[in-house]
Amino acid sequence: MDKIDIKSLPTPQLREQLTAKGIPAFRAGQIRSWLDRGVTDFSQMGNLPLSLREQLANEYMIPSVTVQKKWVSALDGTIKYLFALSDGELIESVLMQYHHGYSQCLSTQVGCRMGCTFCATGQEGLVRNLLPAEMLAQIEAAQVDAGVRVSSLVLMGMGEPLDNFDNVMRFLEMVNEEGGVQIGMRHISLSTCGLVDQIERLQEKNWQLTLSVSLHAPNDELRQQLMPIAKKWSVDELLAACRRYADATGRRVSFEYAMVDGVSDSDACARELAAKLRGTLCHVNLIPVNPVKGTPYRRSHAKRLESFCRILQQGGVNVTVRRTLGADIEASCGQLRRHALENNG
Ligand code: SAH
Ligand code: SF4
Repeated sequence: MDKIDIKSLPTPQLREQLTAKGIPAFRAGQIRSWLDRGVTDFSQMGNLPLSLREQLANEYMIPSVTVQKKWVSALDGTIKYLFALSDGELIESVLMQYHHGYSQCLSTQVGCRMGCTFCATGQEGLVRNLLPAEMLAQIEAAQVDAGVRVSSLVLMGMGEPLDNFDNVMRFLEMVNEEGGVQIGMRHISLSTCGLVDQIERLQEKNWQLTLSVSLHAPNDELRQQLMPIAKKWSVDELLAACRRYADATGRRVSFEYAMVDGVSDSDACARELAAKLRGTLCHVNLIPVNPVKGTPYRRSHAKRLESFCRILQQGGVNVTVRRTLGADIEASCGQLRRHALENNG
């Protein structure tokens, strides 16, 4: 039987499980405070009887991440981490400094099964979902390593967050629980390739987080070339879901648009995009694509970017070209796109 991730359990549920085993309810609070302090081994929970520590270790596990490698940018101090999980799998995360504080880009899965043709992670397929506590542990590990407090999050690392829906939702709750890292929903953005049914489920939560949608193309034909998910939901269906999300939550949706040389960066694409987004409470981020080995894509020229940007602006669309941090450590390569909405541009 798989061991239960004890750190992701809400305290009342942990209390219930313990009392069902005949363990006094007050032990739940003691265990929780060890977990909140970052203890990853039951043997270190000094105020628990030895027999209980052993019993817990047999039935539960405490997910953790450890720094396997890190790269620090000499240009701006951005840190890219390679974290090892308890089972040896590796994930990436990036810590960025902005004038208002630190923002961290987190992974939500090991690999991804969405298969976007320009994406490094998409080429490997899905290895496994991350547990809620493994997402939290990325923040705890970076805070300890860098000696800073993270004040905003982007779920834009490896994986498709809405394809790991329940664990990501639990993680988002944990962030703001007592003893948690306390990063408000307004300082969190979640990036998705556009799983329309899951966007609807997210909307029902009525949270103030920013929905960021990887659009990358103004029409179905082009989007289907780049993103297999576009065969399941059309651009129109996706945009309709985004409008409903913006109307229901009052939060403007952010669209990511990768500028791929000769593929998605023409003036005609820009005009089509402007027409489709007219009247939508949104913001567009243009990202020069990062060339990934084994893919034919190259980044657009600066002139193309300017022209595309101008057409969107003339069409009344809010647009910025993503600012590059950590260029010397490839912090922005393949997966680890960084965000920090308020600071773009
Ligand atoms: N799966 C989610 C979040 C992780 S990917 C999503 O797709 O939105 C994070 C962002 O990086 C997405 O906007 C994705 O489209 C973008 N991305 C992936 N590979 C890229 C590349 N080679 N160049 C530029 N952006 C890329
Ligand atoms: Fe998965 Fe996002 Fe990469 Fe697409 S871009 S393969 S959804 S991680």
